Amino acid sequence: TDFKSDKQPTWCPGCGDFGTMNGMMKALAETGNDPDNTFIVAGIGCSGKIGTYMHSYALHGVHGRALPVGTGVKMARPDLEVMVAGGDGDGYSIGAGHFVHAVRRNVDMSYVVMDNRIYGLTKGQASPTSRSDFETSTTPEGPKQPPVNPLALALASGASFIAQSFASDALRHQEIVQKAIEHDGFGFVNVFSPCVTFNDVDTYDYFRDNLVDLQEEDHDPNDYEAAKKVVLDSEKEYQGIMYQDENSVPYHEQHGVTEDMSDIPDSAPDDAMDLVREFY
Ligand code: SF4
Repeated sequence: TDFKSDKQPTWCPGCGDFGTMNGMMKALAETGNDPDNTFIVAGIGCSGKIGTYMHSYALHGVHGRALPVGTGVKMARPDLEVMVAGGDGDGYSIGAGHFVHAVRRNVDMSYVVMDNRIYGLTKGQASPTSRSDFETSTTPEGPKQPPVNPLALALASGASFIAQSFASDALRHQEIVQKAIEHDGFGFVNVFSPCVTFNDVDTYDYFRDNLVDLQEEDHDPNDYEAAKKVVLDSEKEYQGIMYQDENSVPYHEQHGVTEDMSDIPDSAPDDAMDLVREFY
């Protein structure tokens, strides 16, 4: 797509982040966006490199702080399509506080979390979504605490859109990210994005064998009580849209931030883009 940069990803061959990113790029294109109106904000981790591999405005932010940066971008330029990307360590550990507040503010942007249930960039430590018995070099007997449930955390924080997808189910993943982009408010998608190097438990085969698609379960994403049941169900791994508030009003509309940004000089984004090119 137009969103692919000329930089070759340094992700390990087979990493789920390839599929996650491809779906994101296609979803952006399908929803009528182009690199000139799109701003990617990334956190730190293997997933954080995504802003380099995508051709758009981008900022590779501070660990756990991608969401406040994305919020700032959207408030300053509500006319831009803002997509924030990160990993489970970035988003649900050091960034957990920001996650809760971005969710409750309902800023009109999408947040795609590449959840591989491990820290990949730092070579395989337990992450907030690792299973309690997952043995790693730093947790030889497992973390011995239950994993964070990001979907339940989002629902409890007042989310207006909660979804989950699988990097390897390309069309379904793309479709779900598209819905998150189109949603009027904070579109949260937790993506199962296997780390083929450090996680031999939450593998492609595991998700292929265990994933249940909500489309086949007659789930109504507009039904809050049904959403509660699905996000709290620890027995199953779901993909699909868990919850969508049809009456969602995004933050900038609630607070009268105008879509009309005609007073901003055109030169500002171009100068910023030159800086980004120089940096990479
Ligand atoms: Fe992907 Fe894991 Fe390799 Fe990182 S370490 S690039 S998450 S496979």
